[in-house]
Amino acid sequence: MDFPAVQVSQSPEEKFREYLASQPRAQRYTNQQRDMVVYIFSRHNHFDADQLVESLKNENIPASRATVYRTLKKLVRAGLLRELDVGPRKFYEHDYGYPQHEHMYCQQCHTMIEFQDPAIEEAIRDVCGQHHFQAASHTFIIRGLCADCNRAKVTKRRLDLV
Ligand SMILES: [Zn+2]
Ligand SMILES: [Zn+2]
Repeated sequence: MDFPAVQVSQSPEEKFREYLASQPRAQRYTNQQRDMVVYIFSRHNHFDADQLVESLKNENIPASRATVYRTLKKLVRAGLLRELDVGPRKFYEHDYGYPQHEHMYCQQCHTMIEFQDPAIEEAIRDVCGQHHFQAASHTFIIRGLCADCNRAKVTKRRLDLV
């Protein structure tokens, strides 16, 4: 489901280092943070903070919940990660080096489906133009039921009728 990567001039680690150094009170780039960034950018997916805490533990990258939450916020501010708010859960995904795409979110199994549609991109460009609005980013999430969950629901309804 991954889209081809977009060419970027810096590695995510370099970009994050630069962001931390550019802060009013320059922040230290810890080895733990670097390990986190390398791990997060080793593959594209959608994850929430708790899932990341779990995967880091499995990878032997010890990081407390507090550190993970704090670092995720900084990575969003640095333009490396994008936040996808789907109700009580908040997902994160690569923004840096990954092409613009939209999402369908299954409220039953929490699957996040990515898609690209030039017509949507064009509509956003048009509407921004009409409002003389300079868009920096957008998040477009369609919530509902994925094909599998929908099939399961329809089947269940049929069985209930028998
Ligand atoms: Zn589903
Ligand atoms: Zn995505």
